Formats: sequence, structure tokens, C-alpha cells
Amino acid sequence: MESFKLNENFFKIPESYLFSEVAARVAKFKEANPDARVISLGIGDVTRPIAPAVTEAMHEAVSELSTEAGFHGYGPEQGYGFLREAIARHDYAERGVDISPDEIFISDGAKSDLANIGDIFSPQCRVAVTDPVYPVYVDTNVMAGRAGRLSSSRWDRVEYLPCTEENGFIPALPSRCPDLIYLCYPNNPTGTVLTLSELSAWVDYALENQCVILFDSAYEAFVSTPGVPRSIYEVPGARKVAIEFRSFSKRAGFTGLRCGYTVVPRDLTLPASDGSLHSLRKMWLRRQTTKFNGASYVIQRGAAAVYTPRGLAETGAQIDGYKRNAALLLEACRRADLEVAGGKDAPYVWVRCPEGYASREFFSLLLERLHIVCTPGCGFGPAGEGYVRLTAFNTPEATREAAERLSGLNSILN
Ligand SMILES: *Cc1c(COP(=O)(O)O)cnc(C)c1O
Repeated sequence: MESFKLNENFFKIPESYLFSEVAARVAKFKEANPDARVISLGIGDVTRPIAPAVTEAMHEAVSELSTEAGFHGYGPEQGYGFLREAIARHDYAERGVDISPDEIFISDGAKSDLANIGDIFSPQCRVAVTDPVYPVYVDTNVMAGRAGRLSSSRWDRVEYLPCTEENGFIPALPSRCPDLIYLCYPNNPTGTVLTLSELSAWVDYALENQCVILFDSAYEAFVSTPGVPRSIYEVPGARKVAIEFRSFSKRAGFTGLRCGYTVVPRDLTLPASDGSLHSLRKMWLRRQTTKFNGASYVIQRGAAAVYTPRGLAETGAQIDGYKRNAALLLEACRRADLEVAGGKDAPYVWVRCPEGYASREFFSLLLERLHIVCTPGCGFGPAGEGYVRLTAFNTPEATREAAERLSGLNSILN
């Protein structure tokens, strides 16, 4: 009798040809048109260099490590106190939110935490996601065996909550009562946000139905509209139902340095099958101490420097720059009579394709006629078809040039 050793859930995930197809199309276009100045508004990665305050702190930390007195070996799995305290104070207390340092877990980024959090939940849990969606939420649940079977681009055990122009990109509450709900606001890919009262409806729903909300706020630093929460814990009761994931990636350009954190409040408890009540914070602590040995000391020193007055000013200026880029793109799309969402409290502008164009076709038009690279919305889920995503992660000069080209789209379409 043969024994099979592989987690065959991995084989269920279809190869995503879209992103390699996009890259190949762009490469081919550039080869055929060597003089075209192609501007990429497709990248989901920051482009500005690390802030000087952060770099200096990391240099100091490196030097410190090479002294007898300043050497650090393994750090605490949960992260150094100096960073957790800075986070609790600046990201939460100063905004009137009660999160204590021992509810904060430092990691090497939000993606791994968003993926690993599944370890503390049953493989039977039912999952809900907004659609379009950051693919990590879905694919990690497929790997864990929670997603069921794929039929017509949807996993049958996953509830998809469409976010489209029709509902103003505000998802309706689930109908099938999931156990885990992934929310990401400000949203990637749509760039849209929820107001405090809109987010409250989700917290109330989770409280009533005993679900856990996995709240990805990787883009919180881009929020400037009054009444738009940066943290789900601004909603009363959220400490009982929500885990929040944050990152220094988009906020301070750490995509290459790697640092993020996850908040699991003490009030978040769920019953086990024998009726006993369990703290999710304790379970996540156990998970991290068993499987993770902490983020690098140097990087954590760099992350803590984000909260110094200089660090705040320098990283704040970078965010402002990206936000100005987003505003330029938003304005250009409006001038071209394109329907747009997002772009105000997020680095992403979500553009409705003109009448008669699917995501891929509009991608081709933008590439071939305007020499602009976007990301076809269909890559983010079924409800992303008919849209493309533009990102603000570029230089002001390139973004201005792209905005000018976009403004002239009408003359091509008509
Ligand atoms: C970029 C991004 C993250 C951050 O990932 P890191 O692993 O911290 O770099 C998390 N969630 C979403 C939706 C993102 O776009």
C-alpha cells in the first residue's frame, strides 16, 4: 500500500498566470518599443528610500551588537519591549485606544502573521473574504484545507462578499455566518475605506455571531479623512472579537527590511469543544514561542525610530508624497470620465474599465496606447473583473507624466 505524504491542498491552488502574463506582456511591449517611456503604476511595493532616522538607528544598533556590552542574542519571541511600548503609546494610546504592550506581537511582516494566524483556528472554520481581495487570505486557507473546492473561480467553503460600484465598495454582512472574517481597510486593491459606523456594524455582527474578525490595517498610515478609523479597536467592543495586523512596510518603506506586528487583545476568548474558555492571545503566544524566534534586533531598532519625532516627520513626508501621487491619478481618471474609487486614504486607485472593456483589455489599451502599466482587477477575485488597479508608489515626476497621459484617454476611446 502506497502512503502519500504531501499536503495535497497545495495542488488545489491554480497557478496564477495573470501576474506572469502581465510581466511577459510588458517585457514584450518594451522589446518591440524600445523608445517608449513605460511608466509602471502596477507595482504594489514602495519606492522611496528608507528614512534617515531609521537608517541611523539601524547603524547604531549594528555597532552596538559588535561590542561586549551591547551584544544581543536571541530576543524575546514577542518582540522587544522598547518597540511594543512605542507602538502601544503612539499607534494606540495617543489615539484613545487601549492596547497594552503585552497584546502586541512583533514579527517579520504582516503577510506571515496573516498566513500563520490560521494555526490557532480549527480546520473546520468557515471563512469570509471581501471580493476583490488580497490573495494571501484565500490561498493560505486553501493550504489549510478550509476552502473546499474551486468552482467557477470561487472556493465553495469560502463566502465571498462582493465590493463593487453597486454597493459603493461597502461589503454586505455575511449571510452564511462565517467563523473568520478577513477585512482590510484601507483596502488593497480598491483603496476604499470604511467609516467608524460602517466598521461598527461588523464588530456588532461578530459580537452577536461569535466570529473573529482578522483586520488587516497595513495601510492605516494613509488615512486622513476624519471619521475613518485607522484601527478596528477604535470601535467599542472590538477587543472581544478582532485581531489586528499591521506593518512597517507601507508606512515606513520596510518591504525589504521586514517588520510588522499583530495585536491579540486579552478580551478575545473562544470556547473549546469541551466548553472551556480559551484566550487567543495565549494561543498566539504559544504559537509564536514555538515556531518563531523573533524579528531582528537591528530591524526592531529601526522600526522604533519610526516613532521618534524625526522618524514620524520623515516617514510622514513619504506617505504625503504617495498620497499626492494618488490624488494626481484620481484627478486624471476623473478628467478622462473614468469611474474611480479609493485613492484618498490609500495608495491605490481602483478604476472601472470603460464600457466594453474587460480588465485585461483595458490593461492592454493602457499599455499600448498610453505606455502605462496597471494591474488587471480580475487578478484579485471574481468581483475585480471590469476594473484595474493603479498604484501611487512611484516618483512624483513619473506619476505626473502618467496622469497627463491618462487625462488624454478620451481622445483615444472616442
Ligand atoms: C503590503 C500588504 C501587507 C504587508 O505585508 P508585509 O508582509 O508586512 O510586507 C499586508 N496586507 C496587505 C493587504 C498588503 O497589501
